[in-house]
Amino acid sequence: DRLISPEEKEGEELVEKSLRPQYLSQYIGQNQVKEKMSIYIQAAKNRNEALDHVLLFGPPGLGKTTMAYVIANELGVGLKQTSGPAIEKTGDLVAILNELEAGDVLFIDEIHRLPRVAEELLYSAMEDFYVDIMVGTGPNAHAVHFPLPPFTLVGATTRAGMLSAPLRDRFGIILHMEYYEVADLQEIVLRSSEIFNVEMLEDGANEIARRSRGTPRIANRLLKRVRDYAEVKSNGVVNKTVADKALIMLEVDNAGLDRIDQKLLKTMIELYQGGPVGLTTLAVNIAEDAETVEDMYEPYLIQQGFLKRTKTGRVATPKAYEHFGYPFEMELI
Ligand code: ADP
Repeated sequence: DRLISPEEKEGEELVEKSLRPQYLSQYIGQNQVKEKMSIYIQAAKNRNEALDHVLLFGPPGLGKTTMAYVIANELGVGLKQTSGPAIEKTGDLVAILNELEAGDVLFIDEIHRLPRVAEELLYSAMEDFYVDIMVGTGPNAHAVHFPLPPFTLVGATTRAGMLSAPLRDRFGIILHMEYYEVADLQEIVLRSSEIFNVEMLEDGANEIARRSRGTPRIANRLLKRVRDYAEVKSNGVVNKTVADKALIMLEVDNAGLDRIDQKLLKTMIELYQGGPVGLTTLAVNIAEDAETVEDMYEPYLIQQGFLKRTKTGRVATPKAYEHFGYPFEMELI
């Protein structure tokens, strides 16, 4: 249960909802995605047609759900939301398709986790706006043709590679969400502070932004904790010093690393001379399983250049040495 996990935590939903930008003009960062979407939305509106199906992919917490709602708002249509794991049988999908009105957005989060049968039902729904459903059993079984209104499927996935080719090919618009720049996260923190009624100074917002791992969800979560600290330990105003003290207390260091990230890198440096270390060995040393290390801890460390994957194992970079104040000596081979 890490403070800096990019996944939504239980109970966070309502707060997140209150912080969601409603329109493209309020959506901060992701300029390429916004620019493309604004053109496609305008064109669909001019033609009075449903927008092409949109696939959003990128790490958790970067604003994919938010973008789905923004698209529906900009189009002036309704949105129905579900997720891959929530659909267990085709009937679950048919029920939600049945609720769609012309032009609506159907948002399917974690679309790579749809059961195969449901995915196959989507093919005709996406392409020609109908589904054929089997009713009855045994000799009475027959297909019923079920037309649908034109709609826009917005799918979100953290792993584009896990989507089957036939499904991926049915999306006319495929957009990749990037990690956010510090300047964008700073703006998001300032915007959220206004909604929360927190007196936030620019250098305070910058401090939170720098430690948010490129992810708005984490920025908003840290903001809430820093606010608590500021209210109890000082006069409620968040400046750089207050933000820094709060984040030190929360064990999020100045690069956004928490205790586990630190332990992982320090283990490599202190016990294995910086590597290469095998993933499994590394995982055992920090009492985690290899998969967790690979999926949860490594991506950010790699993206930030603290760690490298090589053929022979994981290697700590000079940046990692510098971060912890260890001298980095080039090994002479
Ligand atoms: P995802 O679906 O990619 O996991 P969400 O859309 O749920 O991410 O976003 C997580 C939180 O981050 C939301 O509460 C939202 O307020 C905030 N957020 C995401 N992107 C932005 C943005 N571009 N501008 C402002 N806030 C954002």
